[in-house]
Order: sequence, then C-alpha cells, then structure tokens
Amino acid sequence: MDVAVIGAGQAGLAVAYHLRDLGPRVALVDAGPRAGGAWQHRWPSLTLGRTHSLADLPGMRAAGLSFSDADPRVPARDTVPELMSRYEEAYGLHVARPVRIVRVTRESGRFVIEAAPGGPVPRLEARAVVNATGTWTAPRVPELPGRDTFAGRQITTAGYPGAHAFAGLRVAVVGGGLSALGFMDELAPVASALRWYTRRPPVIRDDASSELGFARGRAAVEAQDAAALAGQLLPSIVSVTGIPLTPPVRRLKARGLLDSHPMPVRMVPDGLVETDGSVWAADAIIWATGFDHALDHLEPLGIRGADGGVRVDQGRVVGQPGLILAGYAGQASTVSAARAARTSARHVREHLSGAADWPA
Ligand SMILES: Cc1cc2nc3c(=O)[nH]c(=O)nc-3n(C[C@H](O)[C@H](O)[C@H](O)COP(=O)(O)OP(=O)(O)OC[C@H]3O[C@@H](n4cnc5c(N)ncnc54)[C@H](O)[C@@H]3O)c2cc1C
Repeated sequence: MDVAVIGAGQAGLAVAYHLRDLGPRVALVDAGPRAGGAWQHRWPSLTLGRTHSLADLPGMRAAGLSFSDADPRVPARDTVPELMSRYEEAYGLHVARPVRIVRVTRESGRFVIEAAPGGPVPRLEARAVVNATGTWTAPRVPELPGRDTFAGRQITTAGYPGAHAFAGLRVAVVGGGLSALGFMDELAPVASALRWYTRRPPVIRDDASSELGFARGRAAVEAQDAAALAGQLLPSIVSVTGIPLTPPVRRLKARGLLDSHPMPVRMVPDGLVETDGSVWAADAIIWATGFDHALDHLEPLGIRGADGGVRVDQGRVVGQPGLILAGYAGQASTVSAARAARTSARHVREHLSGAADWPA
C-alpha cells in the first residue's frame, strides 16, 4: 500500500475522500463493526438536536447528503452512521471492518501495521500512515485514592447508558464540560440526589453571541494546535471556551444545580470524601472527565516526548516522515477535521513523491 488510513470516523473519511484518486493504493481500516466512527457508540438520548452541530464531510452536499438536513430528534447514533455509510458508498471509500490496529512499527522506511487477530486484514505495509483513531476508546479518569474501593457503579462518558439506569439513585457527576452538564440535565428529574464536581470553578458564559462563541472556539483550536506544535499535553477545550448558557444549562441553573463542588479528595466504599472531610454518599459516579487521543498502537514509534505529548505540525508528526495524525488537537471537531483533511492529503502526496519537507 501507499497509504494506510487507520480509523474511518469523520477525520479518516475526510482525508480518504481527498486521496480517492489513488484508488486501491489506499487502505482504509476501522475497528468498529459499522460506519459512523464514534457516533455509533454515543448514548441513545444524544440526538443531533442536542449536539453542537456537525459539519458536513467534504463532498457530502454534492452527494445529496447533509447532517443539517437530518431529523434533530432522532438519536445521533442512528442518523450519523446512516449518513456516513451512504457517504462511503457514494465515493467508493471501501473500509475494511472490523480491523483493530494494535501495533505500528517502521522497517526499512515502510510502516508495518499489525491488526488484532480475527479481522479481515491481519497486517499491512504502507509508505504513509494517516492515523485517525479519535478519542472515544481512551476516556480519562482521574487517579483518586480509594477509587477501587467504591462499592457503587462507576462509568465514563463512553459508557453512559441513559438516565433511566440511574432512577432513584444518588449520582455524582464529575467533569467541567458539556457532556457532564448534559448528563446532569437528564438525571435531574430521575436521580434521588445529584452532585456536580469539577477540577476548577466552571465559567458559565451568558454573553454567548455567535461572534463571541466563534472567537472562543477559534482560540481553543489555536491553543490546542500551539500545544501540539510544542509537543505538550493538550489543554481542555472548555478551559478556553467556558460553558455557553445553552437550554440544558439554563434548566440546571433554574434547579439550583449549577454550583459545582471541588474535586473530592478520595473515595470510600459508600461515597466521596470532600475537601472538608465529609462524605457525600453516592450510589453511582459518572466520570465525564474527558478523553485522550487513542494512540497506544503508535507507541512503538516512540512519538511521545518526556511529558507525554506528541509534537505535531499541521497534522504531521515531527521527525516521523509519512506519519499524519488526522483529527488530532485543533482538528478534533468536525469543522476543523473537514478543513484540515485537504492539507493532510497534500502532505501525504508530497511524502509519496519524495518532495516533502517533513518537519524534523
Ligand atoms: C459526546 C461527544 C459529543 C460531540 N459532539 C460534537 C459535535 O456536536 N460537533 C463536533 O464537531 N464534534 C463533536 N464531538 C467531537 C467528536 O469527537 C467529533 O465530532 C468526531 O466524532 C471526531 O471524529 P474522528 O474521526 O476524529 O473520531 P471518531 O469518530 O472517534 O472515529 C475514530 C475511528 O477510529 C476507529 N479506531 C479507533 N482505534 C482504532 C484502532 N486501533 N484501529 C482501527 N480503528 C480504530 C474507531 O472505530 C472510529 O471509527 C463530540 C465528542 C463527544 C465525545
């Protein structure tokens, strides 16, 4: 192969779209059972109407498809995979599934890409790799003493089954982002008690004009890209944008549930020990504490620096000719991933032609 694209969510498909003239020289593989990237795994109550909005993939309109035409009341886990499947078909983007890549190494200038056993493609060799594996499989949970002793239920955002599973329970929601607030909004009518914990006091923006929201979103993308270029760990988006006063946030405010508590200091079998030493009794804890990029399979390439970050310049991994991270850092939203895909495809072509001036 000339190119292996690992991951066929929005980021991977967008780059594959711009490389489709290379035809069968591009291999596109994905660990999931069907089209849709992480969206096929989102919780059932997350409709498109409750998301920020999804940017269309390149060429989507021309194929008569658009996320903005989809019914906002239907679960995103149904609509998005359906539209992405039709997109793959419209542009002949053949995705080998389920193929979970477990290890990428380099031998004599080529990447050797090994998959978990049992899938249709055991191994690939390619001159360039576009890694677009998203974050969904790498939820982050803070290390809190005693976490394993907690007798109740603990889940992360990726395992949220819907509010019905928490009816009548005392639930702690941890995390300062929009997912945490979305869960709180759903849980408020059914949980017997609800408590919100955040690492730092949340900044609620009630001045959310679209220009300000756009400017803050751009600042967040720039902060992420600057950290990536410096090889640092990525800052959280919400630490830059703050929380906009959306309808769910307004509802929480009206219920008096927007006062967050500082992170607990440790956990005990029946709850969370707070900073003043008191215990908040909990039946369940939802860790909505963000995600890392899922890059474990790239570890053999030694791409991480001393502090754990990866140096990335416009998607190109510095010092790793031919290795692109799509959907990474500032490209992690659908708008920016779609925009960056053309540039990533150009970098791939330049690398294949030997004309690339890869950052070292
Ligand atoms: C709850 C939630 C809501 C969001 N809402 C929005 C929104 O409204 N608007 C927006 O723009 N963004 C939103 N985002 C950001 C979101 O991450 C992007 O929209 C988009 O899903 C990212 O696309 P991606 O292709 O980078 O990753 P993904 O959609 O996660 O796709 C990655 C693909 O890689 C595959 N994969 C992973 N590991 C491997 C492996 N080892 N081998 C092979 N394949 C692998 C996975 O199966 C998956 O198909 C949201 C994120 C979350 C968590």
